[in-house]
Amino acid sequence: MRLSKSFNRSLWVFHFNSGSCNGCDIEIVCTLTPRYDPERFGIKLVGSPRHADVLLVTGPVVHDMADRLRRVYDQMPDPKVVISVGTCSQSGGVFFDSYNLDGPVNDIIPVDVHVPGCAPRPEAIIDAVVKGIAKLERLEEGGKK
Ligand code: SF4
Repeated sequence: MRLSKSFNRSLWVFHFNSGSCNGCDIEIVCTLTPRYDPERFGIKLVGSPRHADVLLVTGPVVHDMADRLRRVYDQMPDPKVVISVGTCSQSGGVFFDSYNLDGPVNDIIPVDVHVPGCAPRPEAIIDAVVKGIAKLERLEEGGKK
């Protein structure tokens, strides 16, 4: 698997917490530790969505974060991939049907890869990023989304 042209040097990831309990976010941080070290493949977290190819979203999207999530998504250049991390981001999880939710994530922005689990293990998060790379490759080749 190899990304061409604009993805030759990197796959940059922006992390967005839409109201999670922080459990999924800790697993994302754990994924970046030397044990897994995805930076050796050019995968790294960036501080601005304008530089990102991949959006990692945690949490069930509370009301105050819904518009921020839309704006972050719109600021990312195309082609881009959205990965929802954790059960809460998929369905609301333990916060399901709360009066304060606008989510889950798929109700706010289109999600390409879901990572189930509470919280998902780093291996599952890395696997999701690899699936995201496959989608970006298809987009670059002009294939189906
Ligand atoms: S899926 Fe679990 S760990 Fe992740 S935000 Fe929800 S409750 Fe927290």
